[in-house]
Amino acid sequence: MTTHVGMPPVLSAEEADKAVLLAAPRGYCAGVDRAVVTVEEALGLYGAPVYVRKQIVHNKHVVSDLESRGAIFVEELDEVPAGATVVFSAHGVSPAVHAQASERGLKTIDATCPLVTKVHHEAKRFAADDYDILLIGHAGHEEVEGTAGEAPEHIQLVEGPQDVAGITVRDPKRVAWLSQTTLSVDETLETVAAIRERFPDLLDPPSDDICYATQNRQLAVKEIAPQSDLLIVVGSGNSSNSVRLVEVALEAGARASYRVDDASEIDEAWLEGVRSVSVTSGASVPEELVQGVLSFLAERGYPEARAVHSAEESLIFSLPKELRRDLKAAAAAKG
Ligand code: SF4
Repeated sequence: MTTHVGMPPVLSAEEADKAVLLAAPRGYCAGVDRAVVTVEEALGLYGAPVYVRKQIVHNKHVVSDLESRGAIFVEELDEVPAGATVVFSAHGVSPAVHAQASERGLKTIDATCPLVTKVHHEAKRFAADDYDILLIGHAGHEEVEGTAGEAPEHIQLVEGPQDVAGITVRDPKRVAWLSQTTLSVDETLETVAAIRERFPDLLDPPSDDICYATQNRQLAVKEIAPQSDLLIVVGSGNSSNSVRLVEVALEAGARASYRVDDASEIDEAWLEGVRSVSVTSGASVPEELVQGVLSFLAERGYPEARAVHSAEESLIFSLPKELRRDLKAAAAAKG
């Protein structure tokens, strides 16, 4: 699924004047691709409008593009007319939301990323074994709300090491941790270490909760950051993994790093005296927005970008089963 390639990104003599490094991998992950295609296919199959609870992925360009094609984004299910089709976003929903949809007779398509669903299953299993579960994540993030909703009486949120002293559990020997999929790997390790210091019998999740895409994009940034006078992250402000990339870039040695939704948000002043610029993008960002940033740089005398590969990705998720079933039925009806 993922292979570490590990090419050290050394600037060549020709690049010594000005250079642009392009992180790889960057941009769309398998879960985002699946969620966006789900809405596109639903629009094609059922016709507009198709309702989507919350932003399907955290990128304002993706959302406005789908809106222009007939998707209607709502915050809660009571905004969806009875009997309509509603897609659940890649970040996942709690069982209470599924129950509400069923009560209202809505047709649902669940585009929750399978790697988020995996964390939901872990939460249910730890809760069934009656563990207190410490969920490391950001308060108010949709993914955290969905995961916590699987076992609200067992789960408490931990935002960082600063929260650890205030944790109260029923039995210090029966404590487990889980995490949001899009956190900083290094910060999460710090938080886990602080929790383990208080609860030495702490149980780990069966496998990494921070997903492959988050880890690979952080790894790619760490490789290029030390050589970057400026590292531009393309991504929306509510995209957790994009915001983390700026933090990772600065920690890994980039002299400056900023997040932009697209090239129009780049401040010309950021380029003053800047020789090497690096570019990456969060997991919900279409590649055309990155290409827009590269064109912006080219117009200001920067050379063609050189990709720096730190990992290969080939993971693909199949579409939600409800949608596959309906697509198959429609194809059969056509003969
Ligand atoms: S960032 Fe990770 S968890 Fe989130 S949609 Fe992409 S693959 Fe899934």
